[in-house]
Amino acid sequence: MRLAKFTITAVILGSSSLLGVPAASALDHVVLRRDGKQIEVAGKLLVAAQDGGLLLMARDGVLWAVTPDELVSKSSDAAPFEPLGAKELGAKILADLPAGFDCYETAHYLIVYNTSRGYAQWCGSLFERLYMAFTNHWTRKGFELSEPEFPLVALVFADRRSYADYARPEIGDNAGSIIGYFSLASNRMAMYDLTGTQALNRTTDRNSAAEINRILAQPAAERIVATIVHEATHQIAFNCGLHTRYSDCPLWFSEGIAVYFETPDLGSSRGWRSIGTVNTTRLAQFRQSLRSRPSDSLVTLIRDDERLRKSGETLDAYAEAWALTYFLIRQYPRQYLAYLKTLSEKTPLIWDEPETRIREFKAAFGEDLHALDAEFLRYMGKVR
Ligand SMILES: [Zn+2]
Repeated sequence: MRLAKFTITAVILGSSSLLGVPAASALDHVVLRRDGKQIEVAGKLLVAAQDGGLLLMARDGVLWAVTPDELVSKSSDAAPFEPLGAKELGAKILADLPAGFDCYETAHYLIVYNTSRGYAQWCGSLFERLYMAFTNHWTRKGFELSEPEFPLVALVFADRRSYADYARPEIGDNAGSIIGYFSLASNRMAMYDLTGTQALNRTTDRNSAAEINRILAQPAAERIVATIVHEATHQIAFNCGLHTRYSDCPLWFSEGIAVYFETPDLGSSRGWRSIGTVNTTRLAQFRQSLRSRPSDSLVTLIRDDERLRKSGETLDAYAEAWALTYFLIRQYPRQYLAYLKTLSEKTPLIWDEPETRIREFKAAFGEDLHALDAEFLRYMGKVR
């Protein structure tokens, strides 16, 4: 998941002004000027900041954060806000892409692809299976999820180069090394065909699910597929009410969940047996990091996002986020659920202070972080 904290400053906003901005049913029209171009967006106003900045959700699910100096005009009419359906959304996305792309729809997903249809179908069924497993998991735990407001879009490019060209404006030069990502701004995933066989039989669909599974179930492909599953987990979590886009959900928490779900299960056709099992890659990393783990590691992990963003520390921080999630879900399920509820209700564009993060964590898991940390390490010491 790529999160850029963006540039509306001095957002001072109570819940009343968030809920009080034009009635939920109205359609808001915003004209803005960006990069020398005038852009018109129709959608739902989510936040109106005191400094004049806006956060608008367009009918295609894209979030527009508009700074006061970009804003040209704003109006609203009585037409209800209606998200685009899969057909309209597909047409809109295709219009912005080079020729050669097509759409494949499943119950919840819209796969926009220029690789083989077989690969698009394989992605659709992988994501649907994950979706089902994810929603079952949280529903069983007592968290009430919502249906996604928009079709869940995955752009699947035939090759790595064209994917990187698409991704570069959004994620910069990392595009060359990142296998796929979920964008909070566009609400879409972007990735490329991992089988490397896209040149074969584009029109005859000889890329059967069984063939693709055979290629991607090799041990060497496990981490690559895990990345896609990880990003797909983010997308589901942000679209089913577990998190709110552009809200200040602690990164260790959203990443911990994505890592908790990322282990692929290509073997089954319906379920997803690997959810909640030990993520052996992350466990090994966690074990290794223990050799030099500072005594305040738990506090630095939960108080802000720094360790998960800092190059050189990322892998250890992700491993610890996984381990903490694994421990809390198993040992403190009721408390974890309460904490999840608190975080899921966060308002977009309100950034918490580190003290707030620690206070909310303690409110769920108790005041004594030192004791919790000792228990955490003891518990993880026994995990195999
Ligand atoms: Zn992630």
